[in-house]
Amino acid sequence: MRNADIVIIGAGISGAVLAERYANAGKKVLVIEKRSHIAGNCYDHIDDNGILVSKYGAHLFHTNYEDVWEYVNRFSDWYPWEHKVLAKVDGQLVPIPVNITTVNTLFGSDINTEDEMDEWLAENTLPIENPSNGEEAALSKVGPVLYEKMFKHYTKKQWDKYPEELDASVLNRIPVRTNHDDRYFSDIHQALPKKGYTELFRNILDHPNIEIVLNIDYFDICDQIEGYEKLFYTGPVDRFFDFKHSLKDKLEYRSINFVSETIEQPFFQENSVVNYPGEDVAFTRIIEYKHFGNQQSENTTVVREYTTDEGEPYYPVPNPKNQQIYERYKTEADKLVDVHFVGRLANYKYFNMDQAFKNALDLFATLEGQQASVDTAAYENI
Ligand code: UDP
Repeated sequence: MRNADIVIIGAGISGAVLAERYANAGKKVLVIEKRSHIAGNCYDHIDDNGILVSKYGAHLFHTNYEDVWEYVNRFSDWYPWEHKVLAKVDGQLVPIPVNITTVNTLFGSDINTEDEMDEWLAENTLPIENPSNGEEAALSKVGPVLYEKMFKHYTKKQWDKYPEELDASVLNRIPVRTNHDDRYFSDIHQALPKKGYTELFRNILDHPNIEIVLNIDYFDICDQIEGYEKLFYTGPVDRFFDFKHSLKDKLEYRSINFVSETIEQPFFQENSVVNYPGEDVAFTRIIEYKHFGNQQSENTTVVREYTTDEGEPYYPVPNPKNQQIYERYKTEADKLVDVHFVGRLANYKYFNMDQAFKNALDLFATLEGQQASVDTAAYENI
C-alpha cells in the first residue's frame, strides 16, 4: 500500500465519489474495502442464468438533484426506467403506492376521478395532523384498512418493529396517489445504468491517482495507516468507536438474507418487484431481475428477501432511541478533525442512492470550498 493524501474506508457510493473528487483534484487516494468487490451494496453481476442481478437487493436510481444526475451521467450511459411495484394483497396484485386502481381492486369500488379518490380518502383515513410515528403516518394517509393489509405486517417483517415503533419518515417514504399513476417514484430522473452499477463504479474509480485494496478490513490495519491529510469512513459509525456507546443498548441495523432461486421458465412473476405485505409468508418481497432492462434469457432468477437482525448492516433503524445512541457517536465523530463520517451507515441515515451521491459531493464541496457540480478542471488548484 502506498502513502496517500486521502484515505477512504469503503468503496460504495460515498467512498467512490470522494475518491474520484480528490483524485481529480490531484490528490493520491487510497480506498480500503473489506469486501472482495467495489460498488458497496450497489454491486451487480451477471449470474448463471446470464441475468444482471444485484447481490444486495434491487437498486433503483431516481433523483430530482440536477447536479447528481449530471454527475452520474459522466460515468455511465443510462436508460430510462420508471420503477413499478405490485403488492400481493388478498390474493390479488395491486399497485403500491396506493392509487385509484389499488382501491378499486381491493374494495370493488368504481372510483374514476381525482375528486372521487379524494373523497374516498377523506372518508377512510384518520385526521392526524402531525403524525409522530409510522403508524400515525400510514393511518393519516391510507386509513386503517389499507394500513392493516399493506403496511403493518410488511413493516414488522422489514424492521422487526411495528410502525408505531418507527419514525413517521419511514412510512412517509411511500406516497398516496389520487390518480392512476403507478410509478413507485415521482422524481424527474429515473434510470438504470446501461451496463450495471458495478461498471458505473469502475468508471468512477478509474483514475491513476486512486489505489483500491480489496479484502482488507480497515480495523485490522488501522495502525499502519498514517500520514494522511484526511480520512473518510463510510462504515457503521459504532464500529469505528468500538461500540463504546452501545454496550447496553445497541445501535440497531437491519440486514437482509437474499435467497436466490432459478426458475426453469421464461418468467416467474409479471413485474420486477412483488411485495408480500401479509403475515402468511416470512419474506417481504420477491425480485425478478430479468424485468430490469427487459433482459433475455431461457430461465429466470428470483430472489426472496428476508430481513434479519444478523449479518451485514444495510439499513439504519430510524426511531428516537437509535437516534439518541447515534448522537453520542456523532459527538465523538465531530471531535475528530481529520476524520469524516459519510454515508448511510456512518451518518446513520436512511439515504436513497441519490442522497448518498449528493451528500458526498456536497461534503467535498464544503471541505474544499468548491462547487460540487462544476467540471473537474476546476479542481486543479486544490
Ligand atoms: N412499506 C410497507 N409495505 C410495502 C412497502 C413499504 O409497509 O409494501 C413500508 C415499510 O415500512 C418499508 C417502508 O415502507 O420499510 C419504506 O419502503 P421502501 O420501499 O422505501 O423501502 P426500501 O426500498 O428502502 O427497502
